[in-house]
Amino acid sequence: DRTLLLAGNWKMNHDHLEAISSVQKLAWALEDAKLDGTQCDVVVIPPFTDIRSVQTLIQGDKLWLTYGAQDVSQHEPGAHTGEIAASFLARLGCTYVVVGHSERRANNDETNDVVAAKVKAALAQEITPILCIGESLEQRQEKTHVDFTLSQLEESLAGLDAAALEGLVIAYEPVWAIGTGETATAEDAAEMAAAIRARLEEKHGSALASSTRILYGGSVKTDNVAEILASDDVDGALVGGASLNGPDFAALCKAAV
Ligand code: 13P
Repeated sequence: DRTLLLAGNWKMNHDHLEAISSVQKLAWALEDAKLDGTQCDVVVIPPFTDIRSVQTLIQGDKLWLTYGAQDVSQHEPGAHTGEIAASFLARLGCTYVVVGHSERRANNDETNDVVAAKVKAALAQEITPILCIGESLEQRQEKTHVDFTLSQLEESLAGLDAAALEGLVIAYEPVWAIGTGETATAEDAAEMAAAIRARLEEKHGSALASSTRILYGGSVKTDNVAEILASDDVDGALVGGASLNGPDFAALCKAAV
């Protein structure tokens, strides 16, 4: 099932009070836009400290939105100061967790090994990982971007088989397109999504390859989302800046369906 998926990664924006206001406005705007969860999945991914408040609002008002976290520890609960266990996210009703975002790979030394352990930890709690992969500008210019991204894919899924990976979401986010206003062309996004799907098929079989949702991320906005999603292989978007304001994100979702 490759239902169109629109996920808003808020990054380190919005405290828990701002989060409530943003999600409430998003829900109203989605309703005004006549989106009711049958056309697409919409996910908000706030900072950890907001999740309990977002859960209360979404469950209390029976909203059709789902939510997730931006990271997860690879460890079981225990002596890991400052870390958040996957089981805690499961208890908070998180459907998704972003794993291996390029900002964490770059700023928090997350290697593919660590990312693979996090994917495993999430899957063990039945939380869907949104695995982020994608090349730097230098790699794109050297034309090594496909090989690099596919090796990130393989190494970030090391030790997991097709049965374990069912439901996995992959986000192709070229680093040079994140927060820069620069997007990959629709052809670039389609090319990489197809390469990712082909590699999944090679490694894990056609059932997993054809059921895995592949998102594009990097400066997705209301006015470019439809074009980026035009390819059959691109199943949604991971949106940063343009997801922070509820009504704006609803407009983006409307433009995508
Ligand atoms: P922007 O949409 O702000 O470029 O961020 C993309 C991203 O990193 C989402 O995870």
